[in-house]
Amino acid sequence: MRTFLLRSFVCAALAFAWLVGLAPLPAAAAKLKVIATTEDLAALAREVAGDRVDVEAIARGYQDPHFVEAKPSFILKLSRADLLIVVGLQLEIGWLPPLITQSRNGRVQPGAPGYLDVSQSCEILDIPTGAITRAMGDVHPLGNPHYWLDPANGRRIAEAIKNKLSQLQPGDAGYFQQRYDDFSRRLGEAEQEWDRKMAPYRGRKVATYHRSWPNFAQRFGLDVVDYVEPKPGIPPTPQHTLALINRMRRDKIKLILIEPYFDLKTPSAVARETGGEVLVLLPSVGGEKEVTDYLKLFEYDIKLLVAAFERTR
Ligand SMILES: [Zn+2]
Repeated sequence: MRTFLLRSFVCAALAFAWLVGLAPLPAAAAKLKVIATTEDLAALAREVAGDRVDVEAIARGYQDPHFVEAKPSFILKLSRADLLIVVGLQLEIGWLPPLITQSRNGRVQPGAPGYLDVSQSCEILDIPTGAITRAMGDVHPLGNPHYWLDPANGRRIAEAIKNKLSQLQPGDAGYFQQRYDDFSRRLGEAEQEWDRKMAPYRGRKVATYHRSWPNFAQRFGLDVVDYVEPKPGIPPTPQHTLALINRMRRDKIKLILIEPYFDLKTPSAVARETGGEVLVLLPSVGGEKEVTDYLKLFEYDIKLLVAAFERTR
């Protein structure tokens, strides 16, 4: 009788743990469902997960990840997810929290085992010191959330995902490890190629629209000296645009990098005034059709950058 009671209790406890997302799914269940907030994280998850896990992204790579329209279909996807992977550092703060709440899925709530904030594994730049005020614009108080644009962080993200997937689906831990090792090797080889291509342009000064590129610039030796936005998230003002034009003329800066989702009007006017050019660079996988994975993102951007540096010598 007592063993029966104990067993019932254990069963009930396990069922409860499973319901609130504390226990991994039984082995016989369908494939693990992973939702990543961006296509970059989804691409890195696929490198590790192969065909053993279903991976989907919420934001598209050509969208501004700070502002994503919350669709009911996202809530449905989140309600069925076993793992949610986020960029964090408040990048998704404007749209993700209500989706998570409305999904009513205990497995993917912040702090639950099915919630993975990969920023915690990465090198983060631009962490503000001192008090943050509204006057500073839309500053991310935890540091710059565009950190996936350094391949070293891409490797760290893939590793964090590998560890989490192995925890949720331990039977495939060896498979995930093998896939991670292979990705890390291919990334390392590609990095040597990218370094070789970018080496002649180390120290080049550029302006960018938004502060999306500090990790990329640090990795490849670019010097971002000014921005089209007067402050993060604040649209161009005539006063700041004039200052930018003067700065670019003085420092002979010929290149303005812009993300595909910002208005070209002001950067184009600045380029006309300074004899420079505007280059649309992709911050994310999926920004263009052919950019289907993490390595292709850097290949695409570096090819465009090298050509632009050659034109604007
Ligand atoms: Zn940003």
